Amino acid sequence: MVSDKKFITVLGATGSIGVSTLDVVARHPERYGVFALTAHRQVDKLYEQCLQHRPAYAVLDRAEDAQALQARLDAAGCCTEVLAGAASLVAVASAPEVDMVMAAIVGAAGLVPTLAAARAGKRILLANKEALVMSGALFMQEVSANGATLLPIDSEHNAIFQALPSGFRQGVDGTEVTRILLTASGGPFRRKPVEELAAVTPDMACAHPNWVMGRKISVDSATMMNKGLEVIEAHWLFGAPAERIEVVIHPESVIHSMVAYVDGSVLAQLGNPDMRTPIAHAMAFPERVDAGVKPLDLFAVGQLNFERPDLQRFPCLALAYRALEEGGIAPAVLNAANEIAVGEFLGGGLRFDRIAGVIAATLDRIEAQSADSLEVVFEADRQARQVAASLVRQYCS
Ligand code: NAD
Ligand code: MG
Repeated sequence: MVSDKKFITVLGATGSIGVSTLDVVARHPERYGVFALTAHRQVDKLYEQCLQHRPAYAVLDRAEDAQALQARLDAAGCCTEVLAGAASLVAVASAPEVDMVMAAIVGAAGLVPTLAAARAGKRILLANKEALVMSGALFMQEVSANGATLLPIDSEHNAIFQALPSGFRQGVDGTEVTRILLTASGGPFRRKPVEELAAVTPDMACAHPNWVMGRKISVDSATMMNKGLEVIEAHWLFGAPAERIEVVIHPESVIHSMVAYVDGSVLAQLGNPDMRTPIAHAMAFPERVDAGVKPLDLFAVGQLNFERPDLQRFPCLALAYRALEEGGIAPAVLNAANEIAVGEFLGGGLRFDRIAGVIAATLDRIEAQSADSLEVVFEADRQARQVAASLVRQYCS
């Protein structure tokens, strides 16, 4: 019998999304096999994952880490081959044996391997929103030119995808869809007095009320830059102009987003806040499989609330709309400045309430330019990192 088992490469396997993905994979051994697992430097965690999932390849950043992992796997009788470096990420994202690629590296580092998966015509399960924010037009072109399939993992975008008409192709203009309602929890500081934001610590910012996530996206949720990046992500995924994407604060995180139609209907997707739902949805699409997620108990939820976002409290959200309107390289600059500012905040070098200022000043200082090629995007990313880092030093001196 010919097996129709699907093989997956998980980029960023040791992260929050990577671990949830492997949980779904393990629930369906007859449907899914693992081709490759990648991590940056988390050797111990990748070792455990290789023993459990027996991938053909594992990839780490540094050659010395890869050698150490290879020795441990050989000693344990595991025949995974361990590779190192950025070129190996591209190789395992585009290998002919691979059916699906989970793009779950955090930040700009995920762009090149995710693009490689697009060029190889794979089914891409996109968690790495930063890749699309940086190079939306170029990325979408590669997807369509190479017959790749792009399925959103971000819970909001996955919800929107589920609520759109089936077979929906890019572009809400001229269709029966009037608005995309992107829900946001408002993060841990929705009600905190604004003057107390200066004293917020990384652990306070990472204590999200509803979701357990990696540290960078947790800080992005606390500043609401995450929602800003998601507005840009929705723009590219669904061909929606900024004015048709509305952010709605919904503190319970039960409605994952909504689509409004011309006849007055609003379709929503609901569920417990557990990323295994969108992951299983995208992996099995158009079928449905068990994701191990607790059934939603509406009686326990009791109430669903909605609020308008306060742009004074969350200036990062306004900055993202500004970057989307400016277009060209502006979203790449926004993303790079945010990565620097968040990294400095997490490292103790920048106050929480100065993250937005660093990003705004970086956007002001880098001249607008159209994003015609990847080289232009990478140059904008490089320059923005340099400018943002020097602004951080000024703030701290
Ligand atoms: P995480 O920090 O938990 O994991 C990141 C993974 O990427 C790890 O495996 C790490 O080893 C790897 N990595 C980090 N830097 C790398 C580099 N320079 N080169 C190669 N690999 C590198 O992050 P996460 O929370 O799993 O988020 C991953 C992506 O998914 C992000 O883009 C995030 O915005 C998106 N996302 C996450 C969630 C969530 O619930 N965690 C929800 C929606 C979207
Ligand atoms: Mg999200």
